[in-house]
Amino acid sequence: MVRDDNSPSMELPSDSGSAVTIRNSDGMGGAVIVCGHGSHFIPVSVENLGLGDDALSSHVAWDPGASLVSEHLSTLLDAPFVRGEVSRLIYDCNRPPDADSAMPARSELFDIPGNANIDQAERDRRTNAVYVPFTECLQKVMAAAGPDAALVTIHSFVPVYHGKPRAVELGILHDTDTRLADAMLAAAPRHTTMNTLRNEPYGPEDGVTHTLKLHGVSNGVPNVMIETRNDLVATPEACEQVAKMLHGLIAEALAELQSA
Ligand SMILES: [Zn+2]
Repeated sequence: MVRDDNSPSMELPSDSGSAVTIRNSDGMGGAVIVCGHGSHFIPVSVENLGLGDDALSSHVAWDPGASLVSEHLSTLLDAPFVRGEVSRLIYDCNRPPDADSAMPARSELFDIPGNANIDQAERDRRTNAVYVPFTECLQKVMAAAGPDAALVTIHSFVPVYHGKPRAVELGILHDTDTRLADAMLAAAPRHTTMNTLRNEPYGPEDGVTHTLKLHGVSNGVPNVMIETRNDLVATPEACEQVAKMLHGLIAEALAELQSA
């Protein structure tokens, strides 16, 4: 992809001025934590994509709880934490630029008017403003962390989807490199009573492993995507508890991989 330097820039979050932030960049705990859906920030220039406050604050725009879980986990694991600072409705950083779902025109519950008829110039503008810096930042952090650092991405999902309650509480997702997911699934009963399932409520067939493939599988580093049902991370206390549990689970799995 070629950068278009003539395209107007997109105003980005005022607290960071960036589409991506890094915390604990010197962490040497053997993992990199990524939260690509942790913000529901939408730039003023896109006029809220034609959405009301109900949609803009809902899971449609972000993964509630995922950022706070990631922050605690970053501290507990002493791991760098890369956070996307822009709503996935502007650009879903877990999708490649040629995917329709990178700038979705429809979510589970809402049509997204501001995404309905976007032309290639607007797609390029958002790609350059959000996806490129996110991807370049994560590449640098992974390189600095070294070949032994695992990639751990943190998400949350809704308890009821298209009217159906979901029984899964904790999803351990992977693409073709199953090492870390296998070790975590084997260790899970020692750490949690949550209903923990492989490649649920999504899997590679849903296109959700883009970040894992790009920054984990292609580098040969162990990688996993963790999906927590968002009713279980609905308060700061719950986020901290889930992060503590995940810390124990990930640490045991990483130790298992290192001794193998
Ligand atoms: Zn997500």
